[in-house]
Amino acid sequence: MNTKDLIIAHKLRRMILLTCGIALLVASNAFLALEFISYRQNLVEKSEVLADFIATNSSAALSFDDNKIASQLLESLHSETSVETATLYLPDGTVFAHYHRTEPVALAIDKGSQAWLAHLLQEKATTTEHRIEFEHVDTFKPIFLKGDHLGYMHIQFDLSPLYERIREYLLIISILWLLIMGGVYLLANRLHQRISRPIRDLVEGMQQVSDNQDFRLRLKAGDNDEIGTIINNFNYMLGQLDERESKLASYQEELQQKVDERTRDLREAKEAAESAREIAEAASRAKSEFLATMSHEIRTPMNGVMGMTELLLDSGLDIHTRRLADIAHRSAESLMGVINDILDFSKIEADKLQLSNEDFDLRNMLEDTLELMAGQAHRKGLELVPNLPPDLPARVSGDAVRLRQILINLLGNAIKFTERGEVRLWVRATRQEGGKQQVSFEVSDTGPGIDPKQQEKIFDAFSQADGSTTRRHGGTGLGLAIAKRLVTLMGGNLELESTPGEGANFRFSINLANAEAKKPLPVQTDILHGTRVLIVDDHPVNREILRNQVIAWGMREGCVTSGKEALERLHRAALANDPYQVVLLDWHVPGMDGLELALHIQQDEAIPTPCMVTLSSADVDMDSITMRDSGIACYLQKPVRQQQLLECLCGVMEKKSVLQPPGMVRPPKMTGKVLLAEDNKVNQEVATSMLIALGCKVDLAEDGKEAVQAFAKTSYDLILMDCHMPEMDGFDATSEIRQLEQEQGHEPIPIIALTADVQKGVKERCLAAGMNGYQSKPFKQQQLATLLQQWLPGSSSIQSVNSPPTEENVRSGKNSLLNPETLRQLRDLGHTAGRNVLKKVVDHFLHQAPEGMKKLYQALENQDAGQLQFLAHAMKSASANLGAMELSDRCRKLEDAAGNNKLSEAAALIDAVEAALAPATDALRLELKEETKALV
Ligand code: ADP
Repeated sequence: MNTKDLIIAHKLRRMILLTCGIALLVASNAFLALEFISYRQNLVEKSEVLADFIATNSSAALSFDDNKIASQLLESLHSETSVETATLYLPDGTVFAHYHRTEPVALAIDKGSQAWLAHLLQEKATTTEHRIEFEHVDTFKPIFLKGDHLGYMHIQFDLSPLYERIREYLLIISILWLLIMGGVYLLANRLHQRISRPIRDLVEGMQQVSDNQDFRLRLKAGDNDEIGTIINNFNYMLGQLDERESKLASYQEELQQKVDERTRDLREAKEAAESAREIAEAASRAKSEFLATMSHEIRTPMNGVMGMTELLLDSGLDIHTRRLADIAHRSAESLMGVINDILDFSKIEADKLQLSNEDFDLRNMLEDTLELMAGQAHRKGLELVPNLPPDLPARVSGDAVRLRQILINLLGNAIKFTERGEVRLWVRATRQEGGKQQVSFEVSDTGPGIDPKQQEKIFDAFSQADGSTTRRHGGTGLGLAIAKRLVTLMGGNLELESTPGEGANFRFSINLANAEAKKPLPVQTDILHGTRVLIVDDHPVNREILRNQVIAWGMREGCVTSGKEALERLHRAALANDPYQVVLLDWHVPGMDGLELALHIQQDEAIPTPCMVTLSSADVDMDSITMRDSGIACYLQKPVRQQQLLECLCGVMEKKSVLQPPGMVRPPKMTGKVLLAEDNKVNQEVATSMLIALGCKVDLAEDGKEAVQAFAKTSYDLILMDCHMPEMDGFDATSEIRQLEQEQGHEPIPIIALTADVQKGVKERCLAAGMNGYQSKPFKQQQLATLLQQWLPGSSSIQSVNSPPTEENVRSGKNSLLNPETLRQLRDLGHTAGRNVLKKVVDHFLHQAPEGMKKLYQALENQDAGQLQFLAHAMKSASANLGAMELSDRCRKLEDAAGNNKLSEAAALIDAVEAALAPATDALRLELKEETKALV
């Protein structure tokens, strides 16, 4: 085992044994060496004495040559056990007498001694010499007597007794060494007991303390040596630790108490916050409910105001009174707009607004929106400049309605606040990532801009930048707040950049999922390939957009900015024998207007007359005769849809006209007996007047109970049932009527709910109570008429006479959202009948359509093919009557599918109808607004 790993006791024992062993070894070796040296020293001294003695006593024998005496003398050395040999030599080196202890043989000495001796004899040495070897000591001495050299003497001493003695010593030393080491071992053990036991105790104590963390432990006090001191210090340290531990424990206890207190405080604060939250939520719920109630409460009198003013407007007023009544009516409508805005905002604030996700054609949606806003912009003389690059994704998935709402708000504001210049909508496909397309929208204008200070709060609810402009333009200050929140809900951020005096720029980017691409463009562009087209437009962006579009269709283009330039260019082209076949001319080019330029071109004999297409704003009113006379083949309203332009160009190249003559419409006529259950006097008046005006007979019930009684007594064709009435509400009354019918075996009578409650679930409640339909208040006469058409047996519907808006004749001009000719027909009819028919029909449609949509979904849910077919048919004819042909077309497809009982296809077809409905209703709303303005 490694020494390092030994315990201290063993280390100590080893060290003691090692030290003692080495000490003994050194001592015994020193003793032996000393013994050896002193023995040899003694021997040399003795050899000298003996040599002197032999030399003195042998001188006579040498003088007298008596070797007998000399031999005897040498023999006397026998008593000296250490003498091995002794020899007397004559001066010439010959042996005179010799003694050998064991055998008297001549010179039995080793070779080294012999050589040494021979050398001395030869040298005739005169002094005594010694030679010390391992086994023996040689002494050589010359013998003189009174100066005469008598000879030499050599004695050799044996050292073996010395070695014998050393061997004995070694034995004794070994025995002694063993005894001493044994003693030392025992002593070391005792030492270990005294030194290492306390250390071990100390170690064990430390171990115990470290294992159990028990600082109350104390070790037994030891001697007053270092270990004792360590133990004392350790005990002291334990004491300190113990003390600190108890202090810590008390701190900990204190801390724990504090933590408990804080936790309690926190819990209490949390509970307080929780209850505050609950109170806030309750307040928010109360706010929502209040808003709902308020909207209900406001809608009820509004019903009166709107209905009455509508009746007033239809009652053959003189111009002045009619103007006043119309202002009142429009004010009521704008108030409804404000209420809707507030409801929208409160819905977003209460997190109740859910975005839908449907596939839609982005370009179509944008073009619809632009078309919707174009009239407003053009009326103010503003250029509405769209930039919708060709790489925009074809079909995307998202909430088209809300996206349109945002854009309408931004474009509406831009148009509203800009007095001259232009309003731009720039849309760009920016980034494609994992099936999603990031699309950036930018609405900019050349209006007054917004002050940096105002910019900070422009997105806050109810905030309007400039009081004076706002007073001039109206508005709730909610538009941008709603738009901002909608953009946020879509994962984007609505930002504003504006320098006062230089206009405003609102922009945002959102991710729209790529949806399956729609069928390719139905129009073949082959006919346009290589055709030369001259673009006449002074607006660089418009020019660039048109240029890119015609290039994409394979046309050869040229661009000019004025009528004069256009004529020059056309001349040059004619001279070069490569004339332009098509001229795309903007109505407002500098120098001369589109009509003038067209006439010039047509009358100029040096120019082969090209097909001319004018691009005009909504304010240009051109009849077909003027167009024909000026040689204009087609006119398109700006902003021009890509598809529309393409079809127009293809059309003119095939020399086709796009205008169709208008048709006529006649108003509805109702018959039937209606029971009106309504407690509100104003509403009673409104509804009764409307019903009578429509040709119905009306009985009135003040509450549900009266309604049930009237139903039991009289036979009616239809019941209009207010939901909230005293005594018995509309739901209970309906249930009772249905029960009576069952008991008496009568056919169920159509019961339509009339309610100002627009909260979610009311409609379902009405249907659950056994009602057939639902009409929100306020409603218009036309809505009522539509209801009656739908539910009164034998009522005639709005029909086209003379030239009904068949699919073909509407299709011919239909690439716009609404067929202008159909609208014109309705307008004309209004003039002849002295009533605003267009307004009524549009109103009717706008109010009926969402309901119709819900019914469609309901019918699908109930798997009721008959009902589905009926509803689709109703919506088809209603939309066709308004020239919304895309919508009508989709309704027809749905009607066909339902008629063939293909309910599996119906869901997708209903979605398609809904997708077409939003742009159509927006366009109709705008139409309605313009109609109202035109009347003022
Ligand atoms: P409002 O319904 O009052 O128009 P908005 O939230 O849409 O409410 O707009 C808030 C205010 O922001 C407006 O009253 C107007 O002062 C300012 N504003 C919005 N858009 C523009 C714009 N394009 N140019 C100048 N001011 C604008």
